[in-house]
Amino acid sequence: MSSPTGMSNGGSEPRPTNRYAFGTGGEHPGMTEEHWDVLRRYHGHLGPWLILGVKIGEAAVARLGARRHFGVEVTCRVPDAPPPSCLVDGLQWSTGATYGKRNIALVPSDEYTVTVVNKDSGHACHARVLAHVPELFRTLLELHGDEEASRLVAEMPDADLFELETP
Ligand SMILES: [Zn+2]
Repeated sequence: MSSPTGMSNGGSEPRPTNRYAFGTGGEHPGMTEEHWDVLRRYHGHLGPWLILGVKIGEAAVARLGARRHFGVEVTCRVPDAPPPSCLVDGLQWSTGATYGKRNIALVPSDEYTVTVVNKDSGHACHARVLAHVPELFRTLLELHGDEEASRLVAEMPDADLFELETP
């Protein structure tokens, strides 16, 4: 298996195609290589912040029982530059809220929080990225590059990356 970045997995066993799955406890569909490829073409590259956005959006939509695309409103408070702002594209991917539909916004901030509102019920859910994550992602990117860092983040339990509060 070749990767666009030319990275290898250190000469160990070939990677099974569906080794990486979002979320824990089998509540999310597994990520096949085809899924990775679609996500890569959508965003232009893979990155840990993109993957974190996918995971937060999946978790919030599931928690709220919200309708993707038109049934959600998403506010993302993160620094206003990549890589942290790549979180927004992961959120668009997983919630269906998009810039064009005007139901997702980036509010420049050092908070690293995401609020998802179920427009049908009015219920909101608040995700707070854990304090160690920005430094963790910097280290993962340095050590592994964006492809492998993304796959490592995809494998991490949600609870190691963010907490989800339903007020
Ligand atoms: Zn990115």
